[in-house]
Parts: sequence; structure tokens; C-alpha cells
Amino acid sequence: MSAATLARELVVAQTRALKLPGIARTFEALARQARDAHWPHEDYLHEVLTAEQASRHESVIRQRLREARFPEVKTLDTFDFTAAEGVSATQIHTLARGEWVTSPENLIFAGPIGTGKTHLAIALGVEATKQKRRVLFTRAADLVRHLLEARDARELTRLQQRLQRVDVLIVDELGFVPFDRVGGELLFNLITDRYERRATVVSTNLAFAEWVTVFAGDEKLTTALLDRLAHHATVITTTGKSYRMRKRRGSTAEVAHAVEEPIASQPDRAGGRRNDDRKGAQGPALPRVAARR
Ligand code: ADP
Ligand code: MG
Repeated sequence: MSAATLARELVVAQTRALKLPGIARTFEALARQARDAHWPHEDYLHEVLTAEQASRHESVIRQRLREARFPEVKTLDTFDFTAAEGVSATQIHTLARGEWVTSPENLIFAGPIGTGKTHLAIALGVEATKQKRRVLFTRAADLVRHLLEARDARELTRLQQRLQRVDVLIVDELGFVPFDRVGGELLFNLITDRYERRATVVSTNLAFAEWVTVFAGDEKLTTALLDRLAHHATVITTTGKSYRMRKRRGSTAEVAHAVEEPIASQPDRAGGRRNDDRKGAQGPALPRVAARR
């Protein structure tokens, strides 16, 4: 084994032992560059350390993205602002910078189904993970169910502490499923705990006046919850028709023109769409309460 090969083997072993994957990946190519361009040794060292830094930065972001449990990754560049009513591109791009997470402030997306609320909530969540924020996406019904289960298993405090560590908690689809009194109170406590400490995002198909229907008709609790949630909050009200419906109608018109039969009347096609929606409504489970001790 030549001296160069031996040195290479040793460096590879050391990068493994010291957990330096960024250096492991780049040190040889950089060494060739350094030799060719006669870099000072310090420059070479600086370059390999920079590669390690970049690698760590990316792996933290990947980790944050995994932990966020987005049902699917939606981004701002796939969002068509020209097709979104009530949404200002400037406002969303300002929010993407993440100052609201630092403040912290809340975000409320309110509007009819299919108007891009979840898409925007996820996309802003993705932006927050890029800033190494801890994000967790959850549907309101799943969140309340997990809180209730944790309470029954006497693990509520642990779950509450874990949720409190999340910088951006996204509570999607508030209003689809009403909660019983205890469930509503648990959600209320969570919002209260996060108030002025952590950022929360809520998406809802309900107007504020209708929120009481989700909280077992409890006016007092609903008012107090809205008070905390909306105190430092940006409210974005999406309006108009469902994006998918519009897209479908667009393609329907084209195809109908070609075959002179509207797609909506084809049962397979419509059924398939409904299945898609149902699959989406299931959502991922919250991480197990007992997973981390
Ligand atoms: P909501 O949460 O308001 O019910 P979603 O955000 O789930 O609506 O939007 C429904 C579907 O339409 C998603 O696949 C989403 O990516 C897409 N969508 C909605 N609005 C837009 C838009 N303006 N540009 C691109 N895709 C959109
Ligand atoms: Mg949604």
C-alpha cells in the first residue's frame, strides 16, 4: 500500500469515527484541486471544514423536514398566486423570511375548501425548517385525539412538553370535526401554553363566529381561545372556488370539447378523485407519545 493510499484510508476511518461525512465526501477532490492550484495548507483546511459545515447544515434541515411530518411537501414555488384569491404574494414571501416565527406570531388561514390553505401552511412550514426551526404539522382532529389518548395514558405532560418545544405548530383543518368538552379544553390549554412563546398556524374553513360549534358550544372557552390565538396573528382569508375544482373544470371543458362528454359524468374518474380526497383526510399519526424519554 502506497503512503498516499494509506493516508487516504486513515482519513476515511477518521471521518467515520469523528462523524465528518462532509469531509469524507470532499477531501480527495479538494486535495487534487489544492495540489493543482498550489493552495496554502490553511486554504485546503478551510475548504474541507466549509464542506463539513454545509453538510451539517443540510442534515439538520433534512431532519427538521422529516420531523415536521408534512403529509406531502408543498412549496411556495408551486403555488400559483394568480389563481389564489385573497392571498398576497408579497405578504406570503415576507412571511417566508420567518420573522413571525421569531416574534412569535400566529397565522390563521381561513377560507373555503380547496383554496390553498394547507398548501400555504405547509409551504411556510417548509421555509421555517430551512431556517432550522422545529415544525410539526397535524390535523386538529388528530391533535385532539392524541391529547386525549395521552391524557388517558397519563402521558399528557410529556406530550405537552414535546409540543411546547415545537417552534411552529401547524393545526390544519380546524372545524371539520367538532371536539367534546375535554378535547376542546386540551386544545385550549395547548394554545394558551404557546401564547406569546411559540408560533402556531391554524387553517380553518369556518368564520370566527362559527368556531364555537367546534368547541362544544362553549362561548367562553371559544372567545378566550380566539383572543389568544388572534392577538398577535396574521389572518389570511382565502376566497373563491376550489383550485382543484377549477382545474378539473378547465380540463373537463377541454376534454368535453374533444369527446363531447363531460368527465364529471364518468363514474371512474369522479370516484378516483373522491378516493384521493379520502386518502388525504387520513393524515399521518403524531409521533408516539412514549417514543422519547
Ligand atoms: P385547502 O387546504 O384550502 O382546502 P389545499 O391547500 O389543500 O386547500 O389545496 C387543494 C389542492 O389544490 C392542493 O393539491 C394544492 O396544492 C392545490 N392548490 C390550491 N391552491 C393552489 C394554488 N393557488 N396554486 C397551486 N396549487 C394550489
Ligand atoms: Mg386543507
